[in-house]
Amino acid sequence: MAKGRIHSIESMGLVDGPGIRTVVFFQGCALRCLFCHNPDSWDFAAGKEVTADEIIAKVLRFRPYFERSGGGVTFSGGEPLMQPKFLFELLTKCRQHGIHTCLDTSGVGLGDYDEILSLCDLVLYDIKALDGADYEKMCSLSIERTHEFAEALKRIKPATIVRQVVVPGINDTDEYMRALKEYIAKELPFAQSVELLSFHKMGEHKYKKLGIAAPLADTEAMDKEKTQMLCDKYFSKGE
Ligand code: SF4
Repeated sequence: MAKGRIHSIESMGLVDGPGIRTVVFFQGCALRCLFCHNPDSWDFAAGKEVTADEIIAKVLRFRPYFERSGGGVTFSGGEPLMQPKFLFELLTKCRQHGIHTCLDTSGVGLGDYDEILSLCDLVLYDIKALDGADYEKMCSLSIERTHEFAEALKRIKPATIVRQVVVPGINDTDEYMRALKEYIAKELPFAQSVELLSFHKMGEHKYKKLGIAAPLADTEAMDKEKTQMLCDKYFSKGE
């Protein structure tokens, strides 16, 4: 039976997939996104070791709440794809129980992508940057690592929502949004929709606690109205 490390479980998630979600946050991430608000989920050795059955037992207890709302379970992080065997077992068991699953991912993991994606009812694919140099600046890792996952997405074509965090002074421009739209039309034409998420400052206390300088400490939170305006302009349905 697969064991894995998780950061935490949230029983009333409302933003990571349809309806009410039980969100399982995996521990560990290879990226260092400048805008990350969960730096406490980076360290692969931290968190808590659990079995897939322990997680499923919890999920089943929450089931009456999320099922009535058309919700399910979301695997987020950290990065779930960095623990592929554990994730695969969780997805398999959710499917056996008829529970809707959603994978929230950066696409930087350790493989088994086709098998994993075949079991996901919905994928929230987080795009960080489009260009190799910008990606490296944003995430401290080569963009190449995401290509293998993007290829698997194109093969399996699960229901997919593309997500992009919008950061003032970095990607809150018409130029970037046009490029994002073009990229999705070309590479991910099966994506159902695009969600733009405003950069916020709510994770800064976690950096302080960890003794790490928050990389965007001098950047203001993204104006939510401007994010909505960009979303309406470039990604409203029927566009
Ligand atoms: S992929 Fe997610 S958890 Fe990892 S650094 Fe980026 S925002 Fe943080």
